[in-house]
Amino acid sequence: MVLHHGKAQRADRKPGTNPMYTGANPALAAEFTMPHDKLLDDSLPPDTALQLVRDELMLDGNARLNLATFVTTWMEPQARELMADCVDKNMIDKDEYPQTAELERRCVNILADLWHAPDPANIMGCSTTGSSEACMLAGLALKRRWSKLGRTGKPNLVMGVNVQVCWEKFCEYWEVEPRLVPMSGDRYHLSAEEAVQRCDENTIGVVAILGSTFDGSYEPVAGIAAALDELQQRTGWDIPMHVDGASGAMIAPFVDEDLAWDFRLPRVASINTSGHKFGLVYPGVGWVVWRDRAALPGELVFNVNYLGGDMPTFALNFSRPGAEVAAQYYTFVRLGREGFRAVQQASRDVATYLSAAIAELGPFELLTRGDQLPVFACTTRPEVTAFDVFDVSRKLRERGWLVPAYTFPEDRTDLAVLRIVVRNGFSHDLADLLLADLARVLPELQKQDGPQHDRSISTAFHH
Ligand SMILES: *Cc1c(COP(=O)(O)O)cnc(C)c1O
Repeated sequence: MVLHHGKAQRADRKPGTNPMYTGANPALAAEFTMPHDKLLDDSLPPDTALQLVRDELMLDGNARLNLATFVTTWMEPQARELMADCVDKNMIDKDEYPQTAELERRCVNILADLWHAPDPANIMGCSTTGSSEACMLAGLALKRRWSKLGRTGKPNLVMGVNVQVCWEKFCEYWEVEPRLVPMSGDRYHLSAEEAVQRCDENTIGVVAILGSTFDGSYEPVAGIAAALDELQQRTGWDIPMHVDGASGAMIAPFVDEDLAWDFRLPRVASINTSGHKFGLVYPGVGWVVWRDRAALPGELVFNVNYLGGDMPTFALNFSRPGAEVAAQYYTFVRLGREGFRAVQQASRDVATYLSAAIAELGPFELLTRGDQLPVFACTTRPEVTAFDVFDVSRKLRERGWLVPAYTFPEDRTDLAVLRIVVRNGFSHDLADLLLADLARVLPELQKQDGPQHDRSISTAFHH
Protein backbone atom coordinates (compact mmCIF):
# COMPACT_ATOMS: atom_id res chain seq x y z
CA MET A 1 0.00 0.00 0.00
CA VAL A 2 1.32 3.40 -0.94
CA LEU A 3 1.50 5.66 2.03
CA HIS A 4 -0.49 8.71 1.08
CA HIS A 5 0.49 12.22 2.01
CA GLY A 6 -1.42 15.47 1.93
CA LYS A 7 -1.65 18.01 -0.86
CA ALA A 8 -2.49 21.69 -0.83
CA GLN A 9 -6.24 22.23 -0.95
CA ARG A 10 -7.77 23.00 -4.31
CA ALA A 11 -9.79 26.06 -5.16
CA ASP A 12 -13.53 25.48 -5.40
CA ARG A 13 -14.96 25.35 -8.90
CA LYS A 14 -18.41 26.52 -9.86
CA PRO A 15 -19.72 24.63 -12.89
CA GLY A 16 -22.83 25.76 -14.73
CA THR A 17 -25.95 23.62 -14.68
CA ASN A 18 -26.16 20.76 -17.18
CA PRO A 19 -29.72 19.46 -17.20
CA MET A 20 -28.77 16.06 -18.58
CA TYR A 21 -25.86 15.24 -16.37
CA THR A 22 -25.23 16.79 -13.01
CA GLY A 23 -28.23 19.08 -13.51
CA ALA A 24 -30.56 16.19 -12.79
CA ASN A 25 -29.24 16.26 -9.24
CA PRO A 26 -30.22 19.38 -7.36
CA ALA A 27 -27.22 19.06 -5.06
CA LEU A 28 -24.87 19.47 -8.01
CA ALA A 29 -26.69 22.26 -9.76
CA ALA A 30 -24.88 25.16 -8.18
CA GLU A 31 -21.40 24.98 -6.75
CA PHE A 32 -19.83 21.58 -6.73
CA THR A 33 -16.33 20.24 -6.25
CA MET A 34 -15.57 16.62 -5.46
CA PRO A 35 -14.28 16.41 -1.90
CA HIS A 36 -10.53 15.77 -1.92
CA ASP A 37 -9.46 17.01 1.46
CA LYS A 38 -12.55 17.68 3.57
CA LEU A 39 -16.11 16.43 3.70
CA LEU A 40 -18.88 18.22 1.84
CA ASP A 41 -21.24 20.11 4.13
CA ASP A 42 -24.27 18.30 2.77
CA SER A 43 -25.10 14.76 1.74
CA LEU A 44 -25.78 13.61 -1.82
CA PRO A 45 -28.36 11.13 -3.07
CA PRO A 46 -26.90 7.62 -3.41
CA ASP A 47 -27.27 7.49 -7.21
CA THR A 48 -25.39 10.74 -7.56
CA ALA A 49 -22.59 9.61 -5.28
CA LEU A 50 -22.38 6.33 -7.20
CA GLN A 51 -22.18 8.11 -10.55
CA LEU A 52 -19.50 10.52 -9.41
CA VAL A 53 -17.27 7.90 -7.82
CA ARG A 54 -17.72 5.42 -10.66
CA ASP A 55 -16.81 8.08 -13.20
CA GLU A 56 -13.49 8.71 -11.48
CA LEU A 57 -12.72 5.00 -11.33
CA MET A 58 -12.89 4.80 -15.13
CA LEU A 59 -9.30 6.01 -14.99
CA ASP A 60 -8.11 2.76 -13.44
CA GLY A 61 -6.61 0.21 -15.79
CA ASN A 62 -8.68 -2.77 -16.89
CA ALA A 63 -7.97 -5.50 -14.32
CA ARG A 64 -8.27 -8.31 -16.90
CA LEU A 65 -5.56 -6.73 -19.05
CA ASN A 66 -3.30 -6.38 -16.02
CA LEU A 67 -0.61 -8.97 -16.71
CA ALA A 68 1.47 -7.63 -13.81
CA THR A 69 -0.66 -8.98 -11.02
CA PHE A 70 -0.78 -12.47 -9.58
CA VAL A 71 -4.10 -11.68 -7.97
CA THR A 72 -7.43 -13.02 -9.20
CA THR A 73 -9.26 -10.74 -11.62
CA TRP A 74 -12.02 -13.07 -12.74
CA MET A 75 -14.48 -15.20 -10.77
CA GLU A 76 -17.75 -16.78 -11.72
CA PRO A 77 -20.94 -14.78 -11.20
CA GLN A 78 -22.02 -17.37 -8.63
CA ALA A 79 -18.91 -16.64 -6.58
CA ARG A 80 -19.65 -12.92 -6.73
CA GLU A 81 -23.16 -13.65 -5.56
CA LEU A 82 -21.87 -15.67 -2.63
CA MET A 83 -19.41 -12.94 -1.70
CA ALA A 84 -22.14 -10.32 -1.86
CA ASP A 85 -24.20 -12.53 0.50
CA CYS A 86 -21.35 -12.50 3.00
CA VAL A 87 -20.05 -8.91 2.85
CA ASP A 88 -21.57 -8.12 6.22
CA LYS A 89 -19.82 -10.96 8.04
CA ASN A 90 -16.75 -10.27 10.09
CA MET A 91 -14.42 -13.26 10.05
CA ILE A 92 -13.37 -12.67 13.67
CA ASP A 93 -16.92 -13.13 15.00
CA LYS A 94 -16.44 -16.85 15.01
CA ASP A 95 -19.03 -17.44 17.67
CA GLU A 96 -21.69 -15.40 15.86
CA TYR A 97 -20.91 -16.86 12.46
CA PRO A 98 -19.96 -20.40 13.39
CA GLN A 99 -20.54 -21.73 9.91
CA THR A 100 -18.12 -19.26 8.35
CA ALA A 101 -15.61 -20.38 10.99
CA GLU A 102 -16.37 -23.99 10.05
CA LEU A 103 -15.70 -23.25 6.35
CA GLU A 104 -12.37 -21.69 7.32
CA ARG A 105 -11.51 -24.83 9.31
CA ARG A 106 -12.39 -27.04 6.35
CA CYS A 107 -10.24 -24.95 4.01
CA VAL A 108 -7.25 -25.27 6.38
CA ASN A 109 -7.72 -29.04 6.48
CA ILE A 110 -8.07 -29.29 2.71
CA LEU A 111 -4.84 -27.33 2.25
CA ALA A 112 -3.01 -29.43 4.85
CA ASP A 113 -4.12 -32.51 2.90
CA LEU A 114 -3.03 -31.05 -0.45
CA TRP A 115 0.34 -30.24 1.13
CA HIS A 116 0.74 -33.77 2.56
CA ALA A 117 0.66 -32.97 6.28
CA PRO A 118 1.80 -36.24 7.91
CA ASP A 119 -0.52 -35.98 10.91
CA PRO A 120 -3.68 -34.10 9.91
CA ALA A 121 -5.09 -34.16 13.45
CA ASN A 122 -2.08 -32.25 14.70
CA ILE A 123 -1.79 -29.38 12.20
CA MET A 124 -2.42 -25.74 12.99
CA GLY A 125 -3.54 -23.17 10.45
CA CYS A 126 -5.65 -20.12 9.74
CA SER A 127 -6.79 -17.72 7.08
CA THR A 128 -5.20 -14.28 6.78
CA THR A 129 -5.67 -11.16 4.66
CA GLY A 130 -3.06 -12.46 2.21
CA SER A 131 0.33 -14.10 2.02
CA SER A 132 2.04 -11.10 3.58
CA GLU A 133 0.20 -11.53 6.87
CA ALA A 134 0.63 -15.31 6.58
CA CYS A 135 4.41 -14.84 6.17
CA MET A 136 4.54 -12.48 9.17
CA LEU A 137 2.84 -15.14 11.31
CA ALA A 138 5.07 -17.93 10.02
CA GLY A 139 8.16 -15.77 10.56
CA LEU A 140 7.05 -14.95 14.11
CA ALA A 141 6.62 -18.63 14.87
CA LEU A 142 10.16 -19.30 13.60
CA LYS A 143 11.54 -16.44 15.67
CA ARG A 144 9.78 -17.59 18.84
CA ARG A 145 10.94 -21.17 18.36
CA TRP A 146 14.50 -19.96 18.00
CA SER A 147 14.28 -17.69 21.06
CA LYS A 148 13.29 -20.69 23.17
CA LEU A 149 16.66 -22.25 22.39
CA GLY A 150 18.24 -19.66 24.67
CA ARG A 151 20.83 -18.44 22.17
CA THR A 152 22.11 -14.93 22.62
CA GLY A 153 23.00 -13.48 19.21
CA LYS A 154 20.79 -11.50 16.87
CA PRO A 155 18.34 -13.73 15.02
CA ASN A 156 18.70 -14.01 11.24
CA LEU A 157 16.63 -15.38 8.39
CA VAL A 158 18.21 -16.85 5.25
CA MET A 159 16.52 -16.40 1.86
CA GLY A 160 17.16 -15.36 -1.72
CA VAL A 161 17.36 -11.70 -2.71
CA ASN A 162 14.39 -12.49 -4.97
CA VAL A 163 12.01 -12.80 -1.99
CA GLN A 164 8.81 -10.83 -2.07
CA VAL A 165 8.98 -7.57 -0.14
CA CYS A 166 6.91 -9.02 2.74
CA TRP A 167 10.02 -10.88 3.97
CA GLU A 168 12.06 -7.69 4.08
CA LYS A 169 9.20 -6.11 5.99
CA PHE A 170 9.10 -9.04 8.37
CA CYS A 171 12.80 -8.63 9.14
CA GLU A 172 12.55 -4.87 9.57
CA TYR A 173 9.39 -4.88 11.69
CA TRP A 174 10.47 -7.72 13.98
CA GLU A 175 14.17 -6.99 14.11
CA VAL A 176 15.55 -10.05 12.42
CA GLU A 177 18.66 -9.77 10.26
CA PRO A 178 17.83 -10.60 6.65
CA ARG A 179 20.54 -12.74 5.04
CA LEU A 180 19.81 -12.35 1.37
CA VAL A 181 21.57 -14.62 -1.08
CA PRO A 182 22.38 -12.55 -4.16
CA MET A 183 21.68 -13.60 -7.73
CA SER A 184 24.67 -14.64 -9.73
CA GLY A 185 25.01 -15.09 -13.49
CA ASP A 186 21.89 -16.86 -14.65
CA ARG A 187 20.95 -18.15 -11.18
CA TYR A 188 18.01 -15.95 -10.30
CA HIS A 189 16.95 -17.61 -7.07
CA LEU A 190 18.20 -19.38 -3.94
CA SER A 191 20.45 -22.43 -4.14
CA ALA A 192 20.97 -25.03 -1.41
CA GLU A 193 24.69 -24.42 -1.23
CA GLU A 194 24.42 -20.64 -0.92
CA ALA A 195 21.64 -20.92 1.68
CA VAL A 196 23.55 -23.27 3.96
CA GLN A 197 26.70 -21.14 3.79
CA ARG A 198 24.81 -18.29 5.46
CA CYS A 199 23.29 -20.33 8.30
CA ASP A 200 24.55 -20.26 11.85
CA GLU A 201 23.21 -21.01 15.33
CA ASN A 202 21.09 -17.83 15.23
CA THR A 203 19.33 -18.67 11.98
CA ILE A 204 15.62 -18.84 12.79
CA GLY A 205 14.82 -20.48 9.48
CA VAL A 206 15.35 -20.63 5.74
CA VAL A 207 12.63 -19.38 3.40
CA ALA A 208 12.22 -21.09 0.05
CA ILE A 209 9.84 -19.69 -2.54
CA LEU A 210 7.53 -21.62 -4.82
CA GLY A 211 7.90 -19.76 -7.07
CA SER A 212 9.84 -16.58 -7.46
CA THR A 213 7.94 -13.38 -8.14
CA PHE A 214 10.74 -12.18 -10.41
CA ASP A 215 10.53 -14.92 -13.00
CA GLY A 216 8.06 -17.61 -11.87
CA SER A 217 10.75 -20.24 -11.20
CA TYR A 218 10.50 -22.76 -8.35
CA GLU A 219 13.29 -22.73 -5.80
CA PRO A 220 14.89 -26.12 -5.05
CA VAL A 221 13.01 -26.76 -1.80
CA ALA A 222 14.01 -30.42 -1.47
CA GLY A 223 17.65 -29.65 -2.21
CA ILE A 224 17.70 -26.93 0.44
CA ALA A 225 16.05 -29.30 2.94
CA ALA A 226 18.66 -31.98 2.24
CA ALA A 227 21.49 -29.50 2.67
CA LEU A 228 20.01 -28.40 6.01
CA ASP A 229 19.76 -32.07 7.09
CA GLU A 230 23.42 -32.45 6.33
CA LEU A 231 24.21 -29.21 8.17
CA GLN A 232 22.39 -30.51 11.23
CA GLN A 233 24.46 -33.69 11.19
CA ARG A 234 27.63 -31.64 11.09
CA THR A 235 26.75 -28.90 13.58
CA GLY A 236 23.66 -29.94 15.53
CA TRP A 237 21.74 -26.84 14.34
CA ASP A 238 18.19 -27.89 13.55
CA ILE A 239 17.07 -25.08 11.23
CA PRO A 240 13.44 -25.23 10.07
CA MET A 241 12.20 -24.18 6.63
CA HIS A 242 9.21 -22.13 5.65
CA VAL A 243 7.91 -22.46 2.11
CA ASP A 244 6.44 -19.26 0.69
CA GLY A 245 3.98 -20.86 -1.70
CA ALA A 246 2.05 -17.63 -2.33
CA SER A 247 1.44 -18.83 -5.89
CA GLY A 248 2.97 -22.28 -6.24
CA ALA A 249 1.29 -23.94 -3.27
CA MET A 250 -1.94 -23.75 -5.28
CA ILE A 251 -0.29 -24.94 -8.51
CA ALA A 252 2.20 -27.68 -7.69
CA PRO A 253 -0.34 -29.92 -5.86
CA PHE A 254 -2.35 -30.15 -9.08
CA VAL A 255 0.13 -30.10 -11.93
CA ASP A 256 3.45 -31.15 -10.35
CA GLU A 257 2.23 -33.91 -8.09
CA ASP A 258 5.54 -35.72 -7.96
CA LEU A 259 7.51 -32.69 -6.88
CA ALA A 260 8.21 -32.98 -3.14
CA TRP A 261 8.28 -29.39 -1.92
CA ASP A 262 5.81 -29.56 0.97
CA PHE A 263 5.26 -31.36 4.30
CA ARG A 264 6.58 -34.52 2.65
CA LEU A 265 9.93 -32.94 3.57
CA PRO A 266 10.21 -33.24 7.37
CA ARG A 267 12.20 -29.99 7.51
CA VAL A 268 9.28 -27.92 6.21
CA ALA A 269 7.66 -26.43 9.31
CA SER A 270 5.10 -24.17 7.66
CA ILE A 271 3.65 -23.18 4.31
CA ASN A 272 1.68 -20.14 3.20
CA THR A 273 -0.36 -19.38 0.12
CA SER A 274 -2.46 -16.55 -1.26
CA GLY A 275 -6.05 -17.70 -1.71
CA HIS A 276 -6.41 -14.64 -3.90
CA LYS A 277 -3.67 -15.68 -6.33
CA PHE A 278 -3.89 -19.16 -7.83
CA GLY A 279 -6.44 -20.07 -5.15
CA LEU A 280 -8.71 -18.24 -7.60
CA VAL A 281 -10.47 -15.92 -5.11
CA TYR A 282 -10.78 -12.13 -5.33
CA PRO A 283 -8.52 -10.28 -2.86
CA GLY A 284 -7.85 -10.56 0.07
CA VAL A 285 -7.39 -13.97 1.54
CA GLY A 286 -4.28 -15.95 2.43
CA TRP A 287 -3.52 -19.11 4.36
CA VAL A 288 -0.80 -20.46 6.60
CA VAL A 289 -0.47 -24.01 7.89
CA TRP A 290 2.03 -25.40 10.42
CA ARG A 291 2.95 -29.07 10.13
CA ASP A 292 2.25 -29.71 13.84
CA ARG A 293 1.60 -27.97 17.12
CA ALA A 294 5.29 -27.93 18.00
CA ALA A 295 5.93 -25.64 15.02
CA LEU A 296 3.66 -22.91 16.43
CA PRO A 297 4.57 -21.85 19.97
CA GLY A 298 1.40 -21.62 22.04
CA GLU A 299 2.16 -18.13 23.45
CA LEU A 300 1.50 -16.59 20.06
CA VAL A 301 -2.08 -17.78 20.09
CA PHE A 302 -4.56 -15.54 21.91
CA ASN A 303 -7.85 -16.71 23.28
CA VAL A 304 -10.56 -14.09 23.14
CA ASN A 305 -13.77 -14.50 25.05
CA TYR A 306 -15.44 -11.13 24.55
CA LEU A 307 -17.37 -12.18 21.47
CA GLY A 308 -18.96 -15.02 23.37
CA GLY A 309 -17.28 -18.41 23.37
CA ASP A 310 -13.55 -18.88 23.68
CA MET A 311 -11.72 -18.72 20.40
CA PRO A 312 -8.01 -19.13 19.77
CA THR A 313 -6.72 -16.62 17.21
CA PHE A 314 -3.36 -15.90 15.63
CA ALA A 315 -3.58 -12.85 13.39
CA LEU A 316 -2.28 -9.32 13.03
CA ASN A 317 -5.64 -7.77 12.30
CA PHE A 318 -8.77 -8.38 14.31
CA SER A 319 -11.72 -7.63 11.99
CA ARG A 320 -11.60 -8.97 8.46
CA PRO A 321 -14.15 -9.81 5.79
CA GLY A 322 -15.61 -13.32 5.89
CA ALA A 323 -16.69 -13.28 2.23
CA GLU A 324 -13.30 -14.31 0.82
CA VAL A 325 -13.16 -17.36 3.06
CA ALA A 326 -16.61 -18.44 1.90
CA ALA A 327 -15.47 -17.83 -1.68
CA GLN A 328 -12.35 -19.96 -1.12
CA TYR A 329 -14.50 -22.80 0.10
CA TYR A 330 -16.72 -22.27 -2.96
CA THR A 331 -13.73 -22.77 -5.29
CA PHE A 332 -12.84 -26.00 -3.46
CA VAL A 333 -16.40 -27.32 -3.67
CA ARG A 334 -16.86 -26.14 -7.23
CA LEU A 335 -13.63 -27.44 -8.78
CA GLY A 336 -12.47 -30.43 -6.80
CA ARG A 337 -9.05 -31.84 -7.57
CA GLU A 338 -9.72 -32.42 -11.25
CA GLY A 339 -11.17 -28.97 -11.76
CA PHE A 340 -8.18 -27.29 -10.12
CA ARG A 341 -5.86 -29.40 -12.22
CA ALA A 342 -7.66 -28.36 -15.40
CA VAL A 343 -7.64 -24.64 -14.50
CA GLN A 344 -3.96 -24.56 -13.55
CA GLN A 345 -2.95 -26.65 -16.55
CA ALA A 346 -4.86 -24.29 -18.84
CA SER A 347 -2.94 -21.30 -17.43
CA ARG A 348 0.34 -23.16 -17.83
CA ASP A 349 -0.54 -24.08 -21.43
CA VAL A 350 -1.28 -20.46 -22.30
CA ALA A 351 1.91 -19.28 -20.55
CA THR A 352 4.18 -21.73 -22.36
CA TYR A 353 2.44 -21.04 -25.68
CA LEU A 354 2.82 -17.28 -25.23
CA SER A 355 6.46 -17.44 -24.10
CA ALA A 356 7.40 -19.62 -27.09
CA ALA A 357 5.62 -17.25 -29.49
CA ILE A 358 7.33 -14.21 -27.96
CA ALA A 359 10.72 -15.91 -28.28
CA GLU A 360 9.99 -16.44 -31.98
CA LEU A 361 9.37 -12.74 -32.60
CA GLY A 362 13.15 -12.25 -32.69
CA PRO A 363 14.18 -9.45 -30.32
CA PHE A 364 13.35 -11.29 -27.08
CA GLU A 365 15.16 -13.86 -25.03
CA LEU A 366 13.36 -15.88 -22.33
CA LEU A 367 14.58 -16.22 -18.75
CA THR A 368 11.77 -18.63 -17.94
CA ARG A 369 9.06 -20.32 -20.02
CA GLY A 370 6.02 -20.33 -17.74
CA ASP A 371 6.28 -24.09 -17.16
CA GLN A 372 6.54 -23.77 -13.35
CA LEU A 373 4.34 -20.89 -12.24
CA PRO A 374 2.39 -19.80 -15.34
CA VAL A 375 4.61 -16.74 -15.23
CA PHE A 376 7.59 -15.90 -17.38
CA ALA A 377 10.15 -13.17 -17.78
CA CYS A 378 11.97 -12.15 -20.93
CA THR A 379 14.51 -9.55 -21.87
CA THR A 380 15.76 -8.04 -25.12
CA ARG A 381 18.65 -9.77 -26.89
CA PRO A 382 22.05 -8.10 -26.50
CA GLU A 383 22.05 -7.03 -30.16
CA VAL A 384 18.83 -5.05 -29.69
CA THR A 385 19.95 -1.45 -29.17
CA ALA A 386 17.04 0.59 -30.53
CA PHE A 387 14.74 -0.02 -27.59
CA ASP A 388 14.51 -1.75 -24.24
CA VAL A 389 11.87 -3.56 -22.21
CA PHE A 390 10.64 -0.29 -20.70
CA ASP A 391 9.79 0.99 -24.18
CA VAL A 392 7.90 -2.22 -24.92
CA SER A 393 5.93 -1.90 -21.70
CA ARG A 394 5.04 1.74 -22.47
CA LYS A 395 3.97 0.91 -26.03
CA LEU A 396 1.76 -1.97 -24.95
CA ARG A 397 0.13 0.30 -22.43
CA GLU A 398 -1.17 2.46 -25.27
CA ARG A 399 -3.41 -0.47 -26.15
CA GLY A 400 -4.41 -1.10 -22.53
CA TRP A 401 -2.06 -4.04 -21.77
CA LEU A 402 -0.33 -3.67 -18.43
CA VAL A 403 2.96 -5.57 -18.73
CA PRO A 404 5.54 -4.51 -16.16
CA ALA A 405 9.20 -3.92 -16.93
CA TYR A 406 11.73 -3.84 -14.10
CA THR A 407 15.36 -4.39 -13.28
CA PHE A 408 16.62 -7.33 -11.26
CA PRO A 409 18.12 -6.83 -7.78
CA GLU A 410 21.70 -6.54 -6.59
CA ASP A 411 24.37 -8.19 -8.72
CA ARG A 412 22.03 -8.39 -11.72
CA THR A 413 20.71 -4.81 -11.81
CA ASP A 414 22.03 -4.76 -15.38
CA LEU A 415 19.20 -7.12 -16.30
CA ALA A 416 15.83 -5.55 -17.14
CA VAL A 417 12.88 -7.78 -17.95
CA LEU A 418 9.25 -7.88 -18.92
CA ARG A 419 7.12 -10.25 -16.88
CA ILE A 420 3.80 -11.77 -17.82
CA VAL A 421 1.54 -13.51 -15.31
CA VAL A 422 -1.05 -15.77 -16.91
CA ARG A 423 -4.11 -16.21 -14.76
CA ASN A 424 -7.39 -18.05 -15.13
CA GLY A 425 -9.41 -16.06 -17.65
CA PHE A 426 -6.42 -15.14 -19.82
CA SER A 427 -7.35 -17.29 -22.79
CA HIS A 428 -5.41 -18.38 -25.88
CA ASP A 429 -7.47 -15.80 -27.73
CA LEU A 430 -6.35 -12.94 -25.47
CA ALA A 431 -2.77 -14.24 -25.74
CA ASP A 432 -3.06 -14.02 -29.54
CA LEU A 433 -4.33 -10.46 -29.28
CA LEU A 434 -1.39 -9.54 -27.07
CA LEU A 435 1.03 -11.17 -29.52
CA ALA A 436 -0.50 -9.29 -32.44
CA ASP A 437 -0.12 -6.00 -30.58
CA LEU A 438 3.44 -6.82 -29.65
CA ALA A 439 4.29 -7.65 -33.26
CA ARG A 440 2.64 -4.40 -34.36
CA VAL A 441 4.71 -2.15 -32.06
CA LEU A 442 8.08 -3.72 -32.86
CA PRO A 443 8.72 -2.03 -36.25
CA GLU A 444 8.07 1.34 -34.64
CA LEU A 445 10.37 0.57 -31.72
CA GLN A 446 13.08 -0.64 -34.09
CA LYS A 447 13.13 2.82 -35.67
CA GLN A 448 14.12 4.48 -32.40
CA ASP A 449 17.68 5.77 -31.92
CA GLY A 450 17.89 4.06 -28.59
CA PRO A 451 15.88 3.33 -25.46
CA GLN A 452 13.56 6.22 -24.61
CA HIS A 453 13.17 5.38 -20.99
CA ASP A 454 15.11 7.20 -18.32
CA ARG A 455 16.13 4.44 -15.96
CA SER A 456 16.94 6.90 -13.22
CA ILE A 457 13.19 7.45 -12.86
CA SER A 458 12.19 4.46 -10.82
CA THR A 459 9.07 2.64 -11.90
CA ALA A 460 6.41 2.27 -9.23
CA PHE A 461 6.33 -1.48 -9.72
CA HIS A 462 6.01 -3.71 -6.71
CA HIS A 463 6.78 -7.37 -7.02
C1 LIG B 1 2.40 -12.15 -3.72
C2 LIG B 1 3.46 -12.75 -2.89
C3 LIG B 1 3.54 -12.45 -1.53
C4 LIG B 1 2.62 -11.45 -0.87
O1 LIG B 1 1.33 -11.94 -0.94
P1 LIG B 1 0.01 -11.06 -0.72
O2 LIG B 1 -1.05 -12.10 -0.75
O3 LIG B 1 -0.04 -10.12 -1.87
O4 LIG B 1 0.15 -10.37 0.59
C5 LIG B 1 4.51 -13.09 -0.78
N1 LIG B 1 5.36 -13.96 -1.35
C6 LIG B 1 5.31 -14.28 -2.66
C7 LIG B 1 6.28 -15.28 -3.21
C8 LIG B 1 4.36 -13.67 -3.48
O5 LIG B 1 4.29 -14.01 -4.78
